[in-house]
Amino acid sequence: MAVLSKRINSLTESQTIKMAKMGRELAAKGVDVINLSFGEPDFNTPDHIKAAAKKAMDENYTFYTPVAGYPELRKAIATKLKRENNLDYDFDQIVVATGAKQALANAILCLVDPGDEVIIPTPYWVSYSEMVKLAEGKSVFIDTTVEQDFKITAKQLEAAITPKTKLFFFSSPCNPTGSVYSKEELANLCAVFEKHPHIHIISDEIYEHINFIEKHESIAQFASIKDRVVVVNGFSKAYAMTGWRIGYLAASKEIAQACDKMQGQITSATCSITQRAGIAACEGGLETVLEMKAAFLKRRNLVYELLKEIPGIKTNLPKGAFYFFPDVSSYFGKSFEGEKIKDASDLSIYLLNKAHVALVSGDAFGDSNSIRISYAASEEKLTEALKRIKSALAQLS
Ligand code: PMP
Ligand code: GLU
Repeated sequence: MAVLSKRINSLTESQTIKMAKMGRELAAKGVDVINLSFGEPDFNTPDHIKAAAKKAMDENYTFYTPVAGYPELRKAIATKLKRENNLDYDFDQIVVATGAKQALANAILCLVDPGDEVIIPTPYWVSYSEMVKLAEGKSVFIDTTVEQDFKITAKQLEAAITPKTKLFFFSSPCNPTGSVYSKEELANLCAVFEKHPHIHIISDEIYEHINFIEKHESIAQFASIKDRVVVVNGFSKAYAMTGWRIGYLAASKEIAQACDKMQGQITSATCSITQRAGIAACEGGLETVLEMKAAFLKRRNLVYELLKEIPGIKTNLPKGAFYFFPDVSSYFGKSFEGEKIKDASDLSIYLLNKAHVALVSGDAFGDSNSIRISYAASEEKLTEALKRIKSALAQLS
């Protein structure tokens, strides 16, 4: 029998991936499952991006690339950051990775030592706390509530900081809550970081284009802390490129070089063909992104109205990303045919088996009162799924 490392034994399986797998398995048995568990746009990658990949193959972009990515791609990303976010980065401050996920992992492994504290506002995306575990850091959570639109205040941040705090780690727009920090809210957090120069910030901005209200604001815009901010972004959500595996980070040269070194020992670089496609994505304009955003907005409004019709559910109105994170705790303690629903995990299993709708339990995101609904699905599927959820919940007593 293999004796696995303490590291892997302490790691929790990704619940987003697990629920998507359970949904697929049930569907393979012939059950009509509606899968709202996975955070993946249901659109195809735009044609001009696919064409660039085909061309890349024909032109034999099939060899190892520089670890941090082709210089042309890194330059295209730097240009994007200037054009869309008004952020100045040289191309050698960009490190391209196999998805934003690897960019996050690179940054954490380069910044966190065993015992370092990493502040993470809850709810947070599933992999954050697990990546901190891999680096043997200690996650320090700041709880938020639906009433505060799941956003932390400067006061809460200040209270969580200790001399051991090394990193602050958040996403805006947020997965799983859809909350978006305004420029003013970020400025308030920045004022706290100015007082604590030992803290770095990882700003996960992968949902920047799926923002229904404000223009996207990055915490890296504040010159006083910019050198300590690692901006993480990618192509999966904006360009419907989840399977291509491409993301990136922008940081100070020192951090970028460290991430390049880390990646050089782990994956070398992301796929050469994907990288050429990435250049086309950066240079191709935002038309397809805006089309997807418009579709997501319609779906958000639809799901919001349908959720309001379900008794006992409490939700915010998400301003970005493509998730709802409703509080479902009023159903805890109820039963169906003698089976008691104790928590959000039981409820998501119940909804999978009874309503054939796959969702993710909130515990995976650090909030055990909620479930996450990904609305990256057609309006027809969403309407049917919410109807099924409503009916299954009504059968609990
Ligand atoms: N950050 C957040 C908040 C996410 O939801 C995801 C999931 N796609 C990622 C990072 C990772 O994205 P990818 O690795 O596909 O670029
Ligand atoms: N980020 C997506 C989600 O939250 C995809 C799954 C994953 O990478 O964990 O569902």
